Amino acid sequence: MAGDTNSQSGHLIEDCIFCKILRGEIPSFKVFEDDQTFAFMDINPLNEGHALIIPKFHSENLYETPDAWFGPTMSTVRRVATAVNKVVRPEGINLLQANGPGAMQSVFHLHIHVIPRSATDGAGMNWEMVPGDMEAIGALAERISAAVPS
Ligand code: AMP
Ligand code: ZN
Repeated sequence: MAGDTNSQSGHLIEDCIFCKILRGEIPSFKVFEDDQTFAFMDINPLNEGHALIIPKFHSENLYETPDAWFGPTMSTVRRVATAVNKVVRPEGINLLQANGPGAMQSVFHLHIHVIPRSATDGAGMNWEMVPGDMEAIGALAERISAAVPS
């Protein structure tokens, strides 16, 4: 376990388990860190090699994370996923990022899961391909397009 974190953190809060990991107040199995990001092993792994990447900045979810923190976080995701792929040699890797209780978010500090997968692990993230209503899809595309933040 490692509690030695880089000190160049952004805004952190008291009552957040991942902020506590960043401050070294609780231990973690660190796999990588740089000035803006930190990567560590999930202690309830879906499969062997399950890792988490977080910004050194407390924001609850995707909507509240500034690009200046999200971009570096995704760079670290790619680096760590590359390492997990090399070491674990899974059949595949899914990235997962939950926003809100309906998406099963349980820790409210933005994090991206790197999850090694096999087609037979039964994790249930594969949905059946059922064609949607093209008119409804098109109408929603227009509304979403108009709502994209600048
Ligand atoms: P989510 O449901 O997307 O919010 O996922 C939160 C993840 O954080 C879960 O997979 C937990 O197993 C993981 N987790 C919670 N506490 C810790 C911890 N102290 N160290 C490592 N992983 C943790
Ligand atoms: Zn936090």
